Amino acid sequence: MANLHSKVFFRDKIIDFSEANLSIASSAVLYGLSTYTVFLVKNIKGNNYAFRLEDHYQRLVNSMKILGMKSSLASDGYKAFESKVVKLVKANNIHEDSLVRVVIFVDGILSGTTAKNVPASIAIFSYSKTPMLPTKGAKLMVSSFRRNSDLAIPARAKVSGGYVNVTLMKDEATASGYDDAIALDSEGHVTESTVSNIFLVKNNKLITPSGSSDILEGITRDSIIKLAEEIGIETELRTVDRSELYTADEAFLCGTSMDMVPVISIDGRKLKTNGLITKRLMEEFGNKITNDLDVWLKSL
Ligand code: PMP
Repeated sequence: MANLHSKVFFRDKIIDFSEANLSIASSAVLYGLSTYTVFLVKNIKGNNYAFRLEDHYQRLVNSMKILGMKSSLASDGYKAFESKVVKLVKANNIHEDSLVRVVIFVDGILSGTTAKNVPASIAIFSYSKTPMLPTKGAKLMVSSFRRNSDLAIPARAKVSGGYVNVTLMKDEATASGYDDAIALDSEGHVTESTVSNIFLVKNNKLITPSGSSDILEGITRDSIIKLAEEIGIETELRTVDRSELYTADEAFLCGTSMDMVPVISIDGRKLKTNGLITKRLMEEFGNKITNDLDVWLKSL
């Protein structure tokens, strides 16, 4: 990855990216035993601001609870976490919009299939933000793979090993000529896309799968729900059927790595890409991030 920044926070200090290595026998490599989050650092007139940093911290703590991981992240508190992030941002002298990835990994060598009995460590690195999907709009397919359920690898936890599931979907979609995939649960209800949440627009209302639909509860999703409420657009959080994808007026994906991306088509059925609601929310979201600094941004 050419756009990686050179310094990382690894275990307890800042070191060069090339020196931050894990053993091939570590639990993170062998079993995907790590949790992570990725947040936006927005550079505005030379100053850096993190988007909803405390919410990212809280989601990370929750993911660790689900896995039963042993780390001082929760007991040390948010301020200690923030100071590590600030150190990393300063060490990299970030001067562009960037993504920062925080990984809490089970730090054991051949320590077996346990997340509980081995201490976990932290790694933080950053890279410049580049578009993940075509910004004008994405063509989606419904994946033939199913989303891992709360009874298997809970999607609510952002667990590295769980990303095998969405990797299968993304590769299937791109090999079939689509930009990305939509995951259904094992009963055929809509969950989310591979690294983003999905919203449909129908009769001027937003519809998005609820928090108990085997989704990662995205922080961007939450911001959009709040934004919609502020500007008087109703949002239904509920179970969503596959056939609703085909009859939606508009749809969009949202997540840290892409902000909001309109959906052009789903399984070849075309949607309105320049739909009024998507357009308005995209504008409002952009304004809020750049102008309304106190709402979601934390000065670093
Ligand atoms: N769902 C999945 C599976 C994801 O990986 C992501 C990206 N973190 C999202 C949704 C969007 O979450 P957020 O808005 O917090 O980036």
